[in-house]
Amino acid sequence: CGIVGYAGPQAAAPSSRPVDVALQGLARLEYRGYDSAGVAVLDDDGVRVTKRAGKLVNLRDALDGAPETTGQVSIAHTRWATHGGPTDINAHPHVGGRDGELAVVHNGIIENFATLRAELEKDGRSFTSETDSEAAAHLIAREMESAGDLTEAMRRTASQLEGAFTLLAVHRDAPDTVVAARRNSPLVVGLGDGENFLGSDVAAFVDSTKEALEIGQDQVVTVTANSVDLIDFDGNEVTDAKRYTIEWDAAA
Ligand code: GLU
Repeated sequence: CGIVGYAGPQAAAPSSRPVDVALQGLARLEYRGYDSAGVAVLDDDGVRVTKRAGKLVNLRDALDGAPETTGQVSIAHTRWATHGGPTDINAHPHVGGRDGELAVVHNGIIENFATLRAELEKDGRSFTSETDSEAAAHLIAREMESAGDLTEAMRRTASQLEGAFTLLAVHRDAPDTVVAARRNSPLVVGLGDGENFLGSDVAAFVDSTKEALEIGQDQVVTVTANSVDLIDFDGNEVTDAKRYTIEWDAAA
């Protein structure tokens, strides 16, 4: 339902910024309605996911005492369940990979998830949730094993998915990067100063920046603290993304 992403600088000491940005963005997206919420960060020892059914306060309570991370990126999600009930396990982010090396958040519906799931399970990938979204997590992880590049893994995955999706992924082997893709579902990038943001709408990052980049249909965007690169699902570079300044009524 709602998505937030963050890519920041390598901090000298553990920082709460990736989790703070995620929680602030999720709070801004609450108006859309949701049944669960979650966040993933990359720490020294890999992907750390915290997710809870119910209101954001449940997620905040679960994170209490551990909001700091040694990593540079976060992805976060408020869920409006379409496949699988509103439980902790079905909440996003979902983890993929043989070693849980990747986390994904997804807005929308993956229409061909059942076919993909059956094929991935045959390939020895074990699913923990009832969601359509988890198929995307395992698919990106598998494509990463062969492509060795998270952008290419996302591009290959996106072209296999049918339906509507905004997908964000972080991977242990690309610790400064958030990769995203969209089809029939919105995605905006927020351009900060030495840090960048992603959102299902600008509310996700408006507390941090008013400069935004619209992501077009069937595009993949790769975001680090200092770079934003776009390609389409065929792998062609996109150079005409629309940049604009958000007009935000602070009283709203
Ligand atoms: N279809 C996904 C699920 O049920 C995502 C729903 C959403 O957009 O929040 O988990």
